Amino acid sequence: MPTESPAGRRRPADLLFDPLLGLFFTRGRVEHIEQLTPRVRRIRVSGPDVRALSWTPGQHVRVHVKDVRAPVWAGMLRDVLRTYSVWSYDGEGLELCPLDHGDGPGAGWARSLRVGDEVAFRGPEGRFVLDRSAAHHLFAGEETASVAFGAMLRALPEEARVDGVVEVADPRDRLPLPRSAELRWSFRGDAAAAESPSLLAAVRELDLPPEPGVAYLAGEARTCQAVRRHLVDERGWPRRSVLVKPFWTPGRRGMD
Ligand SMILES: Cc1cc2nc3c(=O)[nH]c(=O)nc-3n(C[C@H](O)[C@H](O)[C@H](O)COP(=O)(O)OP(=O)(O)OC[C@H]3O[C@@H](n4cnc5c(N)ncnc54)[C@H](O)[C@@H]3O)c2cc1C
Repeated sequence: MPTESPAGRRRPADLLFDPLLGLFFTRGRVEHIEQLTPRVRRIRVSGPDVRALSWTPGQHVRVHVKDVRAPVWAGMLRDVLRTYSVWSYDGEGLELCPLDHGDGPGAGWARSLRVGDEVAFRGPEGRFVLDRSAAHHLFAGEETASVAFGAMLRALPEEARVDGVVEVADPRDRLPLPRSAELRWSFRGDAAAAESPSLLAAVRELDLPPEPGVAYLAGEARTCQAVRRHLVDERGWPRRSVLVKPFWTPGRRGMD
């Protein structure tokens, strides 16, 4: 979404509009794009505003996935912002990893981005973050969840025990997660990621310590609920020890 006219000049209206935009959004530019897996692009966004951010691993940003300078009518609002976890932030740039799941304003935005494009977003924000007081951390989710998990795993102290299941369609869909060897990877093939019985079954099979730790469940909403029920009802984990962040579910658009 370039901010400049084809001739490289700013439109006069932008001179008025840009300061207003800055009140609501942080703006950066795409510095680098890498195809991390067949369906995930790693998008690095940098710029002076991005340097001033503060971020806790697990937090996300809400990206404006339409032309920020186009008028937005009430009926279009739900298609304007989409939520993406921050894969990494090094003080100079932040990286997002949108999954290309097919149709949707977010998926289309991520597919069409090119180096140099402007990205406007709100945040980072969110409470889906590590409980650093825990000695044991359990992660469960699918492709989209693994973006947040990557950032959280990177931030864990070495002595913390890690368990978890990450389910992806195919081995090629695995993100390069830290402590990957301590996680179990589940491959669902052509089966749907929604309400995934294989992810739940893989969590059931985990040999966990007798004392509950903290669980982080993210990704498709109904799968998250099923895994939460398993941990609370069958393993006796306290509800407060199970953090759930539904990212998407069939039929819902732009979950936050
Ligand atoms: C806190 C948070 C963090 C998130 N982090 C990431 C992230 O790092 N990377 C990422 O890719 N997504 C992430 N998501 C999920 C992302 O916001 C949703 O997938 C979003 O729906 C994508 O917007 P869209 O416009 O492409 O599709 P929408 O218009 O929102 O959805 C249209 C339809 O597409 C389908 N759909 C949506 N997402 C998926 C999917 N992943 N797989 C299969 N079908 C789907 C559903 O049927 C949905 O009804 C996150 C969500 C939240 C709440």
